Amino acid sequence: MSGIEEWNAVKGRIVACARRANIDESICNLIVEPEKILEVSIPIKLDNGEIKLFKGWRVHHDTTRGPGKGGLRFHEEVDVETLKALAADMTLKNALVDIPFGGAKGGIRVEPSILSIGELERLTRRFAIEIKEMIGESKDVPAPDINTDERVMAWFADTLWTTSDKHDNGLITGKPFAIGGVLGHQGSTSQGVLNAVRNYLKRSEGSFSQLRAVVQGFGKVGAPLCYLLSSVGVKILGISDVTGGIYCSAGIEMTELSKHLRNGGQILNFPGAEAVSKEDIFQIECDVFIPAALGGVITEKVAQTIPAQFIVEAANGPTTLEADQVFAQRDIPVIPDILANTGGVVSSYFEWVQNRQGIRWDEGEISSRLLSYLDLAFEAAWIKASIDGVTLRDAATQIALERVVDAHKLRGLFP
Ligand code: NAD
Repeated sequence: MSGIEEWNAVKGRIVACARRANIDESICNLIVEPEKILEVSIPIKLDNGEIKLFKGWRVHHDTTRGPGKGGLRFHEEVDVETLKALAADMTLKNALVDIPFGGAKGGIRVEPSILSIGELERLTRRFAIEIKEMIGESKDVPAPDINTDERVMAWFADTLWTTSDKHDNGLITGKPFAIGGVLGHQGSTSQGVLNAVRNYLKRSEGSFSQLRAVVQGFGKVGAPLCYLLSSVGVKILGISDVTGGIYCSAGIEMTELSKHLRNGGQILNFPGAEAVSKEDIFQIECDVFIPAALGGVITEKVAQTIPAQFIVEAANGPTTLEADQVFAQRDIPVIPDILANTGGVVSSYFEWVQNRQGIRWDEGEISSRLLSYLDLAFEAAWIKASIDGVTLRDAATQIALERVVDAHKLRGLFP
């Protein structure tokens, strides 16, 4: 799906939700369009001495409820439309889980796997300088996303700290622990996805031990999620990454897979499973299909045949508008991204709170606070969906949108 299609899908969902909720069209228009977009050129010197130019963006979607918050994505398909869609999703996600942030997103159009570590560091540092005017702990707080990690966050933070006369620890989250990160941040999105599955099973009388899952994407979200699911007794039938997929009808042995990967193996040549194509992963019969890679992967065609009982969106924006309609017709519940993958941003919020107060909570406190935010959001969306007879996505979107609308109304319009 192209960036423009991703943006149209998010916009379409917000507008449809505003109509259902009788939200004033002029306020809806105000919310839908991003507040500010910065496009930058990022020149870096490659290791061979050549100078190469990359394009990058930072988008502030809506900051009425608080500073912008959203990840930095380094990917060859990043464009401004994709980032607008992802930033709007962050506005809704942060409102749904009720943390005091607006929505933002940024990224660079680059395939980072072809860069050396030195080139990646120079790219990150130059990008940080180019978008500096948008960033700040009370302005806009980035975090990791696809192909960015705590090392990238550390370079980004160091660049801004070094070129400023202030050391604002909370200007970026997902940092390494030694420079202000929080314990358990890396697994928090996956922990949140697991919690969404738990909440769904609790209300549909299912159990982890009877669940068969297929997970698309084996990165910062997908990999810990597979281990977590397996640790609670879920059978993982299929896993895929950008290189292809694997399938095992008896369930993939996660400890064996982990050993295999530690010894330098790849997902595709794991001897404990059969190799399948990236497309075949959508054909594995399972109870829950969990997309944890890119947006737009569940198209109308995929939705028509996917043999799953329910979908949990660990990725951002994986289901197209048309696919959503097919799922509604097929009576396949979807736990939407803004509800399912919120663990990461809540943990980022905790990092920001601790950084600003100069304190540190222990892992137990972080984990219990995290679950209470996520459970509250799930309960609210579930109750609304049941009372209004709408999908979980529609219910979650409406709760979030009404909070953003309230903030707009209360603040009024300057001048
Ligand atoms: P990542 O870069 O760590 O991992 C991405 C994974 O997707 C990799 O395993 C890659 O091989 C795989 N992939 C890419 N193209 C694929 C394809 N065509 N088929 C199958 N697999 C493919 O990224 P991540 O941080 O794990 O993010 C994954 C998704 O989760 C994204 O949609 C992201 O926006 C969303 N998300 C991430 C976080 C976070 O904290 N990192 C939080 C919320 C949502």
